[in-house]
Amino acid sequence: MPIYEYVCRACGRPFEHLHRRLNEPAPACPACGAKKSAKQLSSFSAKVGGGSMDMPPCASGGCCSRKCPSAGACKL
Ligand SMILES: [Zn+2]
Repeated sequence: MPIYEYVCRACGRPFEHLHRRLNEPAPACPACGAKKSAKQLSSFSAKVGGGSMDMPPCASGGCCSRKCPSAGACKL
């Protein structure tokens, strides 16, 4: 049973959650109860398998993890 690290996107509090089954929905924050937790990928780069994190817009320096051919292409 893997333990995943989450960060609440409502209050910013990090917490761990023990998953008992696959595809378990994201847990609610133990501090504020918001169901806006984002899974942390501690052993992988944020560029791998992201999607739950807010991606920076392509237009502002570099690009998002999707390696768009041109600025803003990821929004299409
Ligand atoms: Zn919270």
